[in-house]
Order: sequence, then structure tokens, then C-alpha cells
Amino acid sequence: KLGNETLKAELGRAAWKVLHTTMARFPDKPTQDESDALKSYVYLFARLYPCGECAEHFQQILKKYPPQTGSRSSAAAWACFVHNVVNESKGKPLFDCANIGDFYDCGCADEEKEEMS
Ligand code: FAD
Repeated sequence: KLGNETLKAELGRAAWKVLHTTMARFPDKPTQDESDALKSYVYLFARLYPCGECAEHFQQILKKYPPQTGSRSSAAAWACFVHNVVNESKGKPLFDCANIGDFYDCGCADEEKEEMS
């Protein structure tokens, strides 16, 4: 049981990192296609999330709080909010979403600048 919980938590940390970093890299002014793609990604992420009970729980959260994909800041704020909903359900402290700014830096080179240099 302890092993399972450890693995579930490890998966959760990795998954949240990918989700928040995706939001941090999302365009400020996305095209309709980019917004639609992020929305589909979130719904499929929720549906296919490998921990079944978590997937079930997260899909219920999405029904109440649909993904906001109109801009980077709204997407990042939304992801922070729903992560806090999960934190709260597990009795964990809430993250201050006002401080999310540069917290999720992927260390990726800025592709446009890279092309120029
Ligand atoms: P995590 O919650 O994994 O967070 C990792 C790090 O992210 C934190 O250390 C902090 O630096 C940062 N962080 C914390 N809160 C936020 C926030 N609101 N916004 C941005 N960054 C933040 N576990 C269950 O037991 N039951 C479930 O139903 C369940 N559902 C899940 C659903 C999804 C979609 C995901 C991705 C995970 C789910 N998990 C669930 C796993 C759970 O959320 C945690 O990942 C796991 O318990 C490990 O928690 P942690 O305390 O190490 O930090």
C-alpha cells in the first residue's frame, strides 16, 4: 500500500509539472486553433490519466471548472486553481497562484532567439 501511494505521488508530481509548464509556455495571444488544442489536451489528459481514481476525480473537477485557454495567464491561473482543488481534497496546503510567475521554467531555449543566433 505504501509503495502504491509513493508511486501515485511521484506520478502526480511529474504530471502536474508537465501541465503547469505547458501553461507557462502557452502563447499570450493564442490562435483559436491553439486554444482548441490546449482544451482538447486537458480533457484527454484528464481522461487518460493513468491513476483511475484520480482521472475520475479530475474529470468531475473539469465539469465544474472547464479549462480556460484564451491566454497564457488564464490557462496558468486555471491550472493552478484546479491543482488547488485537488490539494484541498487531500488536505494539503494551497499554493499561492499569484506567485506562479516564473515558477515553471522548463529551461527550454527561446526558440525564436535560437533561430536568429
Ligand atoms: P503535488 O500536489 O504533486 O505538487 C507538486 C508541486 O507543485 C508542489 O511541491 C508545489 O511546488 C507545486 N504546487 C502545489 N500546488 C500547486 C498549484 N495549485 N499550482 C501550481 N503548482 C503547485 N492523488 C490522490 O491521492 N487522489 C487524487 O484523486 C488525485 N488526483 C490527481 C489528479 C491529477 C490530474 C493529478 C496530476 C494528480 C492527482 N493526484 C491525486 C496526485 C496528487 O495531486 C499529488 O501529485 C501527489 O499527492 C503528490 O503531492 P505533493 O504534495 O508531492 O505535491
